Amino acid sequence: MQTFGEYYDDMLDEVGVGGLACLPPASRILKEMDPTAYNVGFSDFLDDPNRFACSECGDVLTYDDVDVELSDYPICSACRKLGEK
Ligand SMILES: [Zn+2]
Repeated sequence: MQTFGEYYDDMLDEVGVGGLACLPPASRILKEMDPTAYNVGFSDFLDDPNRFACSECGDVLTYDDVDVELSDYPICSACRKLGEK
């Protein structure tokens, strides 16, 4: 099962930097060189409430939910922690 973070990284790698595919992968360059841009981009990427809302609380997923598994019923990290208790 892929996480949202991995999905986003794959998407970045496909697009590349400035539209150019490159090595090392764009996701790694962005994470290391400009983590803020990476986080902002990830938020934008998740900014689709229909697709990326938590199925428990309805909150839109954020960068904190980078490890949330990509599924029809995503659970945000906060709800996941509640469920683990
Ligand atoms: Zn939630």
